[in-house]
Amino acid sequence: MKTKLIRVRPDVPDINKLSQAAKIIKKGGLVAFPTETVYGLGANALNEKALRKIFWAKGRPADNPLIVHISRFRDIRLITNYLPVGAKELMKRFWPGPLTLVLPRHPRVPGIVSAGLNTVAVRMPDHPVARGLIRASKLPIAAPSANLSGKPSPTLASHVLKDLAGKIDAVLDGGKCDVGVESTVLDLTGETPLVLRPGGVTLEQLKEVLSKVSIDPAFETGSAPKAPGMKYTHYAPNGDLILVSGEDEAVQQGIIRLSQDYGQKNLSIAILSAEEHLFKYKQEAKHQLLMSLGPAKSPEVAANRLYDALRQCDQQKISVILCEAYPKTGIGMALMNRLEKAALEVINV
Ligand code: AMP
Ligand code: MG
Repeated sequence: MKTKLIRVRPDVPDINKLSQAAKIIKKGGLVAFPTETVYGLGANALNEKALRKIFWAKGRPADNPLIVHISRFRDIRLITNYLPVGAKELMKRFWPGPLTLVLPRHPRVPGIVSAGLNTVAVRMPDHPVARGLIRASKLPIAAPSANLSGKPSPTLASHVLKDLAGKIDAVLDGGKCDVGVESTVLDLTGETPLVLRPGGVTLEQLKEVLSKVSIDPAFETGSAPKAPGMKYTHYAPNGDLILVSGEDEAVQQGIIRLSQDYGQKNLSIAILSAEEHLFKYKQEAKHQLLMSLGPAKSPEVAANRLYDALRQCDQQKISVILCEAYPKTGIGMALMNRLEKAALEVINV
């Protein structure tokens, strides 16, 4: 199959191009499209055969559920017939945006969407292309990230093509994704709202709306998590990622030392560093590739650049990636979650 590349303006996408992509969705095909978090791989959420193709194209394990995307508030009724306490307030405050809610699944939603669970994850994306595509297709669209299972999520159309060209019908190219990490997954089906995956909406923001919210201890400790997909190795580049955490100065010294050790073994090394530390690494560390993840105090910039940086390491056949850790506050919690999952090792200096 030849994958069609459809270029669209991200701010005001051409309706004809959206209709062309929507036609593919309606016919049961697969279309990758940009959202504000990462690129999604979309199919009609009510068509089981189309949904199967998503799992096939990504090589996604069947027990890893998908997120359903809608473009209008009233369409939530297609997905669930019960809104738990707090759901309305959360939708009002954070939709459209990077918050996914886990709700009871409506019987009309095929079980394959949620890997057989009686719950379903749903969100309203805040990207004109994503919303335009959903509106034009007049269907809820199930979409996981548009990468091969286990690889870093795509934040550019070129990432999608690298992983999925020839396996999907089309890619809507709307440029770079703003947030760069996936949505926050919040389970509302238990007694207390539970964050299953940290993401684009921060814990601090959720607390502005919810009087009580818990965090799935699994993503802190690495034990079996409640969000099915969280158990798989995710976001991993081909090279070994080593995350170095501690006081600023010690981290830099640690990375310089590690770069010299690995350099002696003739391994190709990349360093992912805060803007402010580039000069020091340039002078003192051994490396083939040195990349800035933005100012040290701007985890949102690091989140935005991370997946592309990891993919560039793959492209340049890097064997060891040394990366500075970030404080786990704000979007730093999601950023560190992805880094820890991608990492072979976390070294505390
Ligand atoms: P992706 O869209 O590739 O980021 O993957 C979606 C993720 O959302 C899955 O890996 C799960 O962690 C989570 N998820 C989706 N549906 C459910 C559900 N019904 N219950 C719990 N977590 C879910
Ligand atoms: Mg994914």
